[in-house]
Amino acid sequence: MTFIPSEKGKIHIKEQKGDFQRLRTGLNSLLILCFFLVPFIRYQGQQAILFDVENQQFNFFGTTLWPQDFTLMAWVFIIAAFLLFFITVFWGRVWCGYLCPQTSWSFMFVWVEKQIEGNSNKRYALDKAPWSLNKLTKRVSKHLIWGLMALLTGCGFIAYFVPASSLYPQIFTLNGSFWVTAWVWFFALCTYINAGFMRELMCLHCCPYSRFQSAMFDSNTLTVTYNAQRGESRGPRKRKQTTQLGDCVDCNLCVDVCPTGIDIRNGLQYECINCGACVDACNQTMDKFGYERNLISYSSENELKGLPVQRLNSWRFIGYGTAVAIMLSVFAFDLYQRDAIQLNVIRDRQNLYRIAPDNRIENSYTLKIRNKTQHSQQYLIYLESKQGHFINKEVEVEITVQPGEQLSYPLTVYQQRSKDAPIDGALRQQPITFKVMNLADPLDSVTQQSQFFTLTSA
Ligand code: SF4
Ligand code: SF4
Repeated sequence: MTFIPSEKGKIHIKEQKGDFQRLRTGLNSLLILCFFLVPFIRYQGQQAILFDVENQQFNFFGTTLWPQDFTLMAWVFIIAAFLLFFITVFWGRVWCGYLCPQTSWSFMFVWVEKQIEGNSNKRYALDKAPWSLNKLTKRVSKHLIWGLMALLTGCGFIAYFVPASSLYPQIFTLNGSFWVTAWVWFFALCTYINAGFMRELMCLHCCPYSRFQSAMFDSNTLTVTYNAQRGESRGPRKRKQTTQLGDCVDCNLCVDVCPTGIDIRNGLQYECINCGACVDACNQTMDKFGYERNLISYSSENELKGLPVQRLNSWRFIGYGTAVAIMLSVFAFDLYQRDAIQLNVIRDRQNLYRIAPDNRIENSYTLKIRNKTQHSQQYLIYLESKQGHFINKEVEVEITVQPGEQLSYPLTVYQQRSKDAPIDGALRQQPITFKVMNLADPLDSVTQQSQFFTLTSA
């Protein structure tokens, strides 16, 4: 039953064992395990990693990032993109073959399919077989398990946005809010379609990465390559038979195991995700025939031509490496410089100044103070620049701000003048600096400058 056929029809990949498949399975399993377990990690009594959309904050191991810290998030994505480019220059599309969630989930769904419907030959046969109780039972079981896996994946994904401790009970007792439930089911449906039916079609037709990868390749990039010089002319033969043919015995195993259904013997193709399944398959055949391994291998163009390999002194290595190093430094500096308090001083725009009965000049401000930490904090507000200005009737003010709260604190700054000073002097501005300091950690403080409007006679 093929829902979305590719040009080659539905691909039932043959299971392959070997060094690269062990590595891929291990990395995929680790990725999937991390995906589900990370939302359950707690730090200082809270979910360690949580994109709290409702409260517009991102909690990361005790550090809270707010929309104002968007540049930091942007840096993370830019660095990740450059790291990917950096890795691609050397190891080609290893991300696609070994770490991409699309590949990991597809292989997981294929594994379940194999447990229920049998190996690839049996699955092809079942596709063609007429409907029977046996076929119906296998198909229903497979789709039920796929559905459950997809639902768990939907929950796993949303658990990065809604606290995991409350999400799973909400979903499985059908007590979730409309939007949370809708998003879980939406991502479950996407997973079910992607990993169950789309699989390689996503890599072939939807993923933009496969299209621009060749721009990052050079003659030193490691890609899965068929050594045509050694393999051709190909042809079948018996084991230990002496022949004039090349080493490729045309067993077609490299095609049977390929998740994207390509024949790597036709040269480098954008469909290849560098998963190494054909390398393992071909090595298995080479072992059987007593030939040297690595007819298909991870090799660079230069290696195949017998030219010296220049990885560390290529301009791409130096260029991407330098770019990643600079960006990481800027990110680390930005993170280090980030204030745990956010202060925004807003002047009263209606009345620039007011003359009080005792002839002092008053200006009104609203201080918006955000506590960007995950704990309640006590702050001291005072004026850093002393030019005869005072806050209300005190010199400083003490306030408590709850974690994540943005407190609006109205205050008046005044300047005393002599009782007989005229009220019709020229208007002039004086700079004043507000300072908010954490009482528990005086180094944790922010300042912001504003203007005080007064009269020249003051
Ligand atoms: S050609 Fe080989 S490495 Fe490329 S996708 Fe197919 S099996 Fe994987
Ligand atoms: S697995 Fe190796 S020997 Fe078999 S067809 Fe592919 S390249 Fe030839």
